[in-house]
Amino acid sequence: MGKLNDLTIAEARDGLAAGDFSAAELTEDCITAMEAARNLNAFITETPEIARERAATSDARRARGEALGALDGIPIAVKDLFCTTGTLTSAASHILDGFTPTYESTVSQNLINAGAVILGKTNLDEFAMGSANITSYYGNVKNPWIGPNGEDLVPGGSSGGSATAVAANICPGSIGTDTGGSIRQPASLCGVVGMKPTYGRCSRWGTVAFASSLDQAGPFARTVRDNALMLEGMAGHDPKDSTSAPIDVPNFEASISGDLKGLTVGIPEEYTLDGMPEEIQALWDQGAAWMREVGAEIKPVSLPHTKYALPAYYIVAPAEASSNLARYDGVRYGLRVEGATLDEMYENTRGSGFGAEVRRRVMIGTYVLSAGYYDAYYVKAQQVRTIILNEFNTVFEDVDVLLTPTAPNAAFPIGAKMDDPVAMYLNDVFTVPANMAGLPGISVPAGLDKSGLPLGLQIVAKPFDEETMLRAADALERAANFTAKPRYLGGQ
Ligand code: GLN
Repeated sequence: MGKLNDLTIAEARDGLAAGDFSAAELTEDCITAMEAARNLNAFITETPEIARERAATSDARRARGEALGALDGIPIAVKDLFCTTGTLTSAASHILDGFTPTYESTVSQNLINAGAVILGKTNLDEFAMGSANITSYYGNVKNPWIGPNGEDLVPGGSSGGSATAVAANICPGSIGTDTGGSIRQPASLCGVVGMKPTYGRCSRWGTVAFASSLDQAGPFARTVRDNALMLEGMAGHDPKDSTSAPIDVPNFEASISGDLKGLTVGIPEEYTLDGMPEEIQALWDQGAAWMREVGAEIKPVSLPHTKYALPAYYIVAPAEASSNLARYDGVRYGLRVEGATLDEMYENTRGSGFGAEVRRRVMIGTYVLSAGYYDAYYVKAQQVRTIILNEFNTVFEDVDVLLTPTAPNAAFPIGAKMDDPVAMYLNDVFTVPANMAGLPGISVPAGLDKSGLPLGLQIVAKPFDEETMLRAADALERAANFTAKPRYLGGQ
């Protein structure tokens, strides 16, 4: 048939239900697209044989009249941070060389149980630390969008492979993780929709840990509706994760209603940054105007301490990372580089197994947790975090959702900001606050910058109110009517 990989999840679901094509045909087109896109380096491991087998199982189930929900037979890609039984799980790190889990992460298992067909494991920043997908041991991912002078651009990070797979129409949906923005920021830079659910909505069990109090799995897709369908497949209480919330999974698709009557949208004043490109401010204003047109009330709100979210994040996240990464010692997982003594073996293994950014985080993390500095840095950062959370709670007494830009810039050339970690960290200035407070956030492609590159707007909602967030995001998506295509798909 050809080009079934261009369909959205909702379209593919309807086509499968109508018998227009089979899951096997849909999967075959996605496999062809995956193989044709190898120059983008979006995948670390392709698993076409597993995909074909699951597609056949899905078709057989449907033929018996036992089709499951919307994701039955839908090809997806999985960030290589989720453990997958029998398939290399690398976290894009040399230190996990050859690590093939004997268990499946809850989130990917939930998707498999819903009938989804996993095409492969996508590239990412090493251990999900980064905003450009350039710290991967497996090389950088290329954004399907091209720079104004024909230069290759970063897809954002850390879930750059999963964003690229969806933006390049390799598959209609994928999953990533978002610790400080790693789903929403690459979604913005690649022109797709990406969501970080409320902390606790999706289980963290079987996901390689970066910063446990911030990490949250979430979907990428080309539409808000597809995000809703993916979230429904991933989410749910998991007794194996003590931070997973014992809350029912609603019918997220049903929350998409079209208008925003009765909804109040807050515009946080402090999100206006000095030096932010004018076009981002203009798009943000436009977004508010669009939402007003479909019935929302727009209200300026103040979140004065959000300016401390990013610095506090860069204490909390490395602290938790340094602790989580202590397990990679050359004994239990992956790489081992021998030495004359046990200590030397640890040093050799960790020294050559971790890349520069990971080593930087481990150093910062151990420093802020060390005796004498713990109170000055770590405890302070946790106090700031509480203030940020309280401020959000106060604001959410008056408004239902917040509207902000997703990122302070569009995609930038591969190689830029490489030698300036702080400039790289600034990519997350608008996304990090939601992680610090555990709130859900979604990025919707809303416009183009002057070079013709996509820019996203972000909706942030109250904890466990993804339904209102999706409703607002859908209205924004309709108004923005983003139809531009990346160069990779013949656009630009
Ligand atoms: N860019 C941020 C960091 O490097 C966020 C990464 C993420 O969300 N995983 O920490």
